[in-house]
Amino acid sequence: MALLTDHLRAMAEAFGDRTAYRVVDGGSMTFGQWEAESNRLARALVDLGVGKGDRVSLYLEPSEALRFMVGYSAVHKAGAVAVPTNTRLSEAELERLLGHAEVTAVLTDPQLAPMARGLERALPTLRHVVVGPVAEETGDPAWSWGETVAGEETSRFQVTVVPEDLADILYTSGTTGLPKGVAIRHRNVALIPGEPNPQLSGACWLHASPLFTFAGIGFIYNPMQLGLYGVYQPRFDAGRWLEVVEELRPQFVFLVPSMAQLLVAHPRFAEAELSSIELCAIGSAPLAPATLRAMQERMPEAAVSNSYGMTEAGPAYCAMPKGESLNRIGSVGQPMAPLEVRFVDEEGTEVAPGEVGEVLLRMPGREREYYRNPEATASTWQDGWLHTGDLGKLDGDGFLYIVGRKKDVIIRGGNNVHAVDIEAVLHDHPAVVEAAVVGIPHPVLGEDVAAVVVLSPGAIISAAELREHCAERLADYKVPRRIELADALPRNATGKVLKQDLVRNLVEAPVS
Ligand code: AMP
Repeated sequence: MALLTDHLRAMAEAFGDRTAYRVVDGGSMTFGQWEAESNRLARALVDLGVGKGDRVSLYLEPSEALRFMVGYSAVHKAGAVAVPTNTRLSEAELERLLGHAEVTAVLTDPQLAPMARGLERALPTLRHVVVGPVAEETGDPAWSWGETVAGEETSRFQVTVVPEDLADILYTSGTTGLPKGVAIRHRNVALIPGEPNPQLSGACWLHASPLFTFAGIGFIYNPMQLGLYGVYQPRFDAGRWLEVVEELRPQFVFLVPSMAQLLVAHPRFAEAELSSIELCAIGSAPLAPATLRAMQERMPEAAVSNSYGMTEAGPAYCAMPKGESLNRIGSVGQPMAPLEVRFVDEEGTEVAPGEVGEVLLRMPGREREYYRNPEATASTWQDGWLHTGDLGKLDGDGFLYIVGRKKDVIIRGGNNVHAVDIEAVLHDHPAVVEAAVVGIPHPVLGEDVAAVVVLSPGAIISAAELREHCAERLADYKVPRRIELADALPRNATGKVLKQDLVRNLVEAPVS
């Protein structure tokens, strides 16, 4: 079985001087530089005492993407486990996540280093905070770890790992209860499986997904495995994205729906030269039909697709045949073998063909699991079937449609926000009796976070003060933009909050 690092080495041997990755307005690296620097960093990690199977956090600003990629390869070469870490977490959230992963080391940058260093006392396993160079002072290229790490040796380095060894832990949520980290083994870390087959067409794949996400981490190796070089835009800006497409003429692009919406609304969208794009995948969250239509009509020659993916599902694909998107608005394509799909009702019974049910997925031999959370693993994967929590159906031709979410996740501009986490923080406030958090439609972000709160009798507190309370305890994107006070929450007979009703009321009522 080939490791991801085998692909990099093969590319470095065949195309060492060619560009492997480019960061928009932020430098580039060749396959040779990537391979050599990750060998050097891997040696340095082992010399520091990072052992096989130890967890190493990759906690770097988006603009430090090249160092992140070098770090990702180096962690695997050191036989350690990569923990890509969300850079927007609050200190308390970061402590919970890195504490759950029991990380030995954090690879970070000068900007984020104080946050990481602040945890050294609280986390007994954390022994090394490795901070990349201040490039403006040292003059190190954007991919180099410079003299931050000792050692000159850049020749091949790989601690032996077997397919069952852990490669990555990707955290999907978690400020309450046990954080959920999807544990990914070397046998299923490659989203495009296969042996190294170095080729390079000269074309590129452009994306803007944070590298700590499922999509972003996949885009580190996917381009080279398809014979492309990668281009990463660390801060999405629609106007700059259009310019980059005109300058670099990418063959493949990936967007999340909110980025696609910003592009469609941009004054230069109608005239920009987009003809190089052959595949435009849009996914990670529900995609508005109008956005898909506008993108496909603007790029009639390209395959524009609504792409469904999930960290827990890993390399499970649906494909939309070229030219079919506009005939199947709302569909995410046809499940590709060996992926199998079933739909079940609340009791776990299969629903009639074409009916909506919870989507269950199975990829024999490629199942993932939760790290140090056997209860969640057992309830999410049953007999090899992944219970996605999404609601969907198949049409008569076998096309999959995702129609909603069973579980309560709000996807705000591509960031997953779990209502329970915010409800817990609101409940922490002494004036709050009840709180329910829901996603409400937002024209650009897809969904925004709103809360309805019931105060204890006689309590006097404003929505702004409650927001402040949340802002002190949560990452900024999780803070409810809208907080409404109510006398009571609507509940069903068994006492569950009727969130659909809340959403309807919020959408209909003027903002107070
Ligand atoms: P994550 O694991 O963070 O990528 O989140 C996965 C979840 O995002 C899925 O379970 C879906 O609820 C949602 N999702 C991803 N892609 C789509 C899509 N194309 N349409 C609707 N929902 C999506």
